[in-house]
Amino acid sequence: MNSTLRAALVASAFAVTAGQPASAQATSTINIAGTQFYCNSSVGTLVPIYHTESARQGGGAMAGYNNYRGFYIDVSPSYMSSINAYAAAFVFLHECAHVALPFGVGLGTFSQEANADCWAIQRMRDFGIIRNQLQFEAAISAVANSAGSAMGHLPGPQRIQNAWQCLNF
Ligand SMILES: [Zn+2]
Repeated sequence: MNSTLRAALVASAFAVTAGQPASAQATSTINIAGTQFYCNSSVGTLVPIYHTESARQGGGAMAGYNNYRGFYIDVSPSYMSSINAYAAAFVFLHECAHVALPFGVGLGTFSQEANADCWAIQRMRDFGIIRNQLQFEAAISAVANSAGSAMGHLPGPQRIQNAWQCLNF
């Protein structure tokens, strides 16, 4: 990821502060391989990102809404650093999709999960993060081995096929 891309992704409206966040403290951006990502909710608010290993319960990252935090994204630092940068960006953007797209519509369904995969991979293309099939494969490797779940996640091979069909390089 180059500096042009970084400039495109860094929010201009706020400063990225230096220093390490405390555990489970929210930040407004997440650094993935030198690029700062952020997420705007469906109502236009900047979604706080909580760096917490409890996100492992959601497979490494999860998004939601509650009365205490409003919209939020939880990410497991150990999970994010265990996968390649394309995959980590995909995981973050997939979670962002859950709060950026109209929230609660078909939540936990196969169509909502497919939409989230589609939205994430299209943002990666639009930002110029992925430009070819190899980079697509690196990104989608995040879900390649997933078995699927009752919460609406299709098995990995179907998610890959769906996400690929969303793309037009
Ligand atoms: Zn999801």
